[in-house]
Amino acid sequence: MPELPEVEVCRLGISPHIINNEVSKVVVRNAKLRWPIPDDLQKLIGLNVKSVDRRAKYLLLRFDTGSLLLHLGMSGTLRVIDKEVPVAKHDHFDLVFANGVVLRLNDPRRFGAVLWFDEHYDSQGLLSKLGPEPLTDDFGHDYLFNKAKKRKVPIKTFLMNNHVVVGVGNIYANEALFLAGILPTALAGSISRQRYNRLTDIIKQVLAAAIEQGGTTLKDFTQADGRPGYFAQSLFVYGRAGEACLTCKETLLEVRQSNRSSVYCPNCQQD
Ligand SMILES: [Zn+2]
Repeated sequence: MPELPEVEVCRLGISPHIINNEVSKVVVRNAKLRWPIPDDLQKLIGLNVKSVDRRAKYLLLRFDTGSLLLHLGMSGTLRVIDKEVPVAKHDHFDLVFANGVVLRLNDPRRFGAVLWFDEHYDSQGLLSKLGPEPLTDDFGHDYLFNKAKKRKVPIKTFLMNNHVVVGVGNIYANEALFLAGILPTALAGSISRQRYNRLTDIIKQVLAAAIEQGGTTLKDFTQADGRPGYFAQSLFVYGRAGEACLTCKETLLEVRQSNRSSVYCPNCQQD
């Protein structure tokens, strides 16, 4: 599943090819995504993309009259290719531009989304209740500590709650808690201000490092095949249960939390 860094790299990959370009055609081959693709998107024809923004894992193509929201779901990819590139299986949606390029959404599992909002900013229901972006100053020191007061949920569940902070998915929650030395099962309300501030810095670092690493895949967004935006990463704990801790050699353990796998080192991480 694409997480925040993959979506940000996707934004960087597609933006230069579609900003200030005029939509000449909208093609919906299969409207049945997570929510149906609206049937009135022909109204985009003749409009220019002003910018491509990201909020959490939503991409927002800004037009003068509103925003086209794109979400990659579990398996979606976006590419910017020549309009002559043949359509492949699971290519559900195309935005064709006057200069001959196509923004094409492929999504085998169809949990992605294409939606339209007449507003420019994030007053939409889908986006209005989201917590701060982790890479902005809104997610600063003391934020997590203050937000967690009296909360009895495990820290990992707390971090993955989009109302607390967006974009800390399972991979990055596992990695950040390992690097901060905090057990995923520790209760959110019991962690000190100092440890929270360190965790906040680490979350920013791991996300920024992943985006930087993903930057090497930018060229994939203009290739007709492949899986742009999905990149291999070097990880400390995620996906490594039963293997040795890279820091202390202890065997990494696994616990299920909210139906997701948490991998941790019983030696390096504490309550
Ligand atoms: Zn360890």
